[in-house]
Amino acid sequence: MRTLRLCIEAVGRFVFPDECPACRAPLQAATFCDACAAALVRAPLSAAPPLLNTVRAAFVYDGPLRSAVVRLKYAPDPYPARALGTLLAQAFPDQASIAWCDTLVPMPLSWRRQRERGFNQAALLARPLQQQLGLQWAPHLLRRRHRPAQAGLTAAERHKNVADSFRARPCHGAAVLLLDDVVTTGSTLHAATNALLSAGARRVLPLTLALALEPAR
Ligand SMILES: [Zn+2]
Repeated sequence: MRTLRLCIEAVGRFVFPDECPACRAPLQAATFCDACAAALVRAPLSAAPPLLNTVRAAFVYDGPLRSAVVRLKYAPDPYPARALGTLLAQAFPDQASIAWCDTLVPMPLSWRRQRERGFNQAALLARPLQQQLGLQWAPHLLRRRHRPAQAGLTAAERHKNVADSFRARPCHGAAVLLLDDVVTTGSTLHAATNALLSAGARRVLPLTLALALEPAR
């Protein structure tokens, strides 16, 4: 009985998170605790990373948001994804700026990284927004080759590293919302956008949970 009860508690904890994804305080809301929610900073609309003309980002990559994303990316624990995905969906309630999109593509991982991590954090983040907007779910439209890790590279080195990383399946006329967790220089989103446009997409809007105003540490 005890094992069964622990199993039920574990499942319930995943479906209904009960701790803040940043500070792990007891959670009464669907996203962050009150103190962490008050410390979130909305991304300025005019701030675009160097390689992208346009990107929509919800928050500045700092403070509690950064803690939760790091926890999501580097621990074998997809638990913060539900809170972060809900937060992302709440950040775009008007839908006006993204209403022309009809297809949602989460930024893919290479097969090797997906196997190592066991999940794609961008896909987990994207689900609440995809369901809220009623977009076609297209996680396999874009494929990514394995490349060395980006951390520690300059912007020019990142650009070179990812420029030829992506291939897209034919998607003639699609209006794609391309979703990633964090944008830094924009090199990854730039390369993925080009691949989708080359495969026939009509328009691509990169959208991220967070915008790093300095290179990610
Ligand atoms: Zn908190």
